Amino acid sequence: MATVGVDLGGTKIAAGVLADGRVRARTVRPTPKEGGLAVVEAMAACVRAAIQESGLSGVKAVGVGSPGPLDFERGRVRFAPNIPNLTDFPLREALAEAVGLPVVLENDANAAALAEHHLGAAKDAQSSVYVTVSTGIGGGVVFGDRVWRGAFGQGGEVGHFVVLPHGPVCGCGQSGCLEALASGVAIARDARYAYKREMDTPEVFARWRKGEPKARRIVEQAADYLGLGLASLQRVLDPEVFVLGGGVVLGGGAAYLELVQAAFARYTEGWRAGALRVAALGKEAGWIGAALAAELSG
Ligand SMILES: [Zn+2]
Repeated sequence: MATVGVDLGGTKIAAGVLADGRVRARTVRPTPKEGGLAVVEAMAACVRAAIQESGLSGVKAVGVGSPGPLDFERGRVRFAPNIPNLTDFPLREALAEAVGLPVVLENDANAAALAEHHLGAAKDAQSSVYVTVSTGIGGGVVFGDRVWRGAFGQGGEVGHFVVLPHGPVCGCGQSGCLEALASGVAIARDARYAYKREMDTPEVFARWRKGEPKARRIVEQAADYLGLGLASLQRVLDPEVFVLGGGVVLGGGAAYLELVQAAFARYTEGWRAGALRVAALGKEAGWIGAALAAELSG
């Protein structure tokens, strides 16, 4: 079966055709700054270009990996933090009308989780939890071949798993969420306080690699909270594999992963623990997972 996947990002729209697990075409264009219907038009153009490039005629459906909380039942984006004019927006209907194909809407982190589960780092596993650590922390839970969306569409929101009661206030309104303690923004926030100036995550990592004590403490703490979060998820969801992706994981490299692995081992002591693996599909995971979501819905 051939489906199109579209990854809607704040700056770029990536689309491609997936046929029987193989990539057949790939296209990308900028996300229109005005948002709203212009975004739908750009997505439709991407879909048409990808289908044409693939040379396939039997494309069955389009999957969209979208940012922001979604209303799955109504096929709407509730709001997209980085794209204007998408508040309570009927993306599923608008795109279906524009391309003349059924459209399936999926959360972008869930889409990436599906891609890594079926075709990436967890392709040999029956169950996997995908965790992306970048400016924020997102994720997705895959059991069998399906994403667990949960009763209210909140399934897999691993960034908002509370790991420190009364900890830093999170963007979601809670406090002490994993995202508020282990994300790129959390690392930069701690560095700003410790160094009394703005400092981005790559600089913190560079200082940590040189063995600077303050940077070391900041990175070690963030990795420790991530290990704690994963260990708690192990006992609740018990996945075979955790797939770790995102800019912080890639930027931190092997030494950062060792810290996360050590914390994970410490917090799972006495319990069985799944494997921690680095994401294999990189930026392609979003659209590939969206295409898989369309395929699985058929
Ligand atoms: Zn939160």
